[in-house]
Amino acid sequence: MSQYWSAVVRGLTPYVPGEQPKLTNLVKLNTNENPYGPSPRVLEVVRAEAAETLRLYPDPGSDRLRAGIAAFHGVTADQVFVGNGSDEVLAHAFMALLKHDRPILFPDITYSFYPVYCGLYEIAHRTIPLSESFEIRVDDYLTPNGGVIFPNPNAPTGCLLALSEIERLLAGNPGSVVVIDEAYIDFGGESAIGLVARYPQLLVVRTLSKSHALAGLRVGYAIGQPHLVEALNRVKDSFNSYPLDRFAQAGALASIEDHAYFESLCTQVVATRTRLVDAMRAMGFEVLPSAANFIFARHPAHEGAALTAALRERSIIVRHFMRPARIAPFLRITVGTDAQCNALVDALKAIVAC
Ligand SMILES: *Cc1c(COP(=O)(O)O)cnc(C)c1O
Repeated sequence: MSQYWSAVVRGLTPYVPGEQPKLTNLVKLNTNENPYGPSPRVLEVVRAEAAETLRLYPDPGSDRLRAGIAAFHGVTADQVFVGNGSDEVLAHAFMALLKHDRPILFPDITYSFYPVYCGLYEIAHRTIPLSESFEIRVDDYLTPNGGVIFPNPNAPTGCLLALSEIERLLAGNPGSVVVIDEAYIDFGGESAIGLVARYPQLLVVRTLSKSHALAGLRVGYAIGQPHLVEALNRVKDSFNSYPLDRFAQAGALASIEDHAYFESLCTQVVATRTRLVDAMRAMGFEVLPSAANFIFARHPAHEGAALTAALRERSIIVRHFMRPARIAPFLRITVGTDAQCNALVDALKAIVAC
């Protein structure tokens, strides 16, 4: 029945999200969710929003939330754009800021949604290979381009690019937009938000899905100079004027304002990550240095697909990518609770011993 489809839809290769299994009792380490719940303050305000006022549209500009995000980062509200998850913020950035005649650049191993947006919006792109040690080499991006985008830390590798290298990229690339996707920055990196004042072409994208334990609320945001934010607003207001519902606006603000809870979430995940990396290396795994809430690891004697299947038989799910071929040996494993990571390590010990 695809004769009813538009030509664009026929040509799409959609993003495939990690599995959200219907089975309970699985150790779910496949989509980089936070293993802990969100701040109790978030639950309180979300409950309070379940009221008669739901008959009214939410604030189209999410003004209170944007003011809270601006205060948290020490920027002004006109430098903040919010969206229904950072995936939506990224989608608008592709349309508003990365669609030009020249191809945009991103790593060959990176967030697999980027080529999908290029397909949807018909944006030319060129992938730049990571180094042998899976690092982004800034020099490779200092070439004429329609824009640059990558996550920092990168996904699915977890490797961090130093802020000084991001600044070198910005200084050497004044003519096109550079988007830094900081989905995982709270787990060990230094944010590029401090560079926004000096670089008019820098857009930093963030999400509450991972470090704020709010993947289910769907809130992401971008920080950049007002001319970039205006471009995003022009797309948003040509697409959906009310992307954040009342629950999302209230809950996200409460989370941003609960600094102590947020810090404790990040500290716990980082402590468990250190223990997990040590345990994996002791079993003979090669683990890339991670600044994220996941690790990327391979075993010299076992294939990635086989390990993934063997873990699944033991009710543990991790993420495995077949392509590019260079990463097929690797497992991407979300840092869970200590108990979840112990279960993973015990299972891997049994599998690797066979
Ligand atoms: C998880 C993730 C996102 C999307 O986050 P949402 O806010 O949940 O849409 C964006 N970029 C990267 C690199 C991610 O890993």
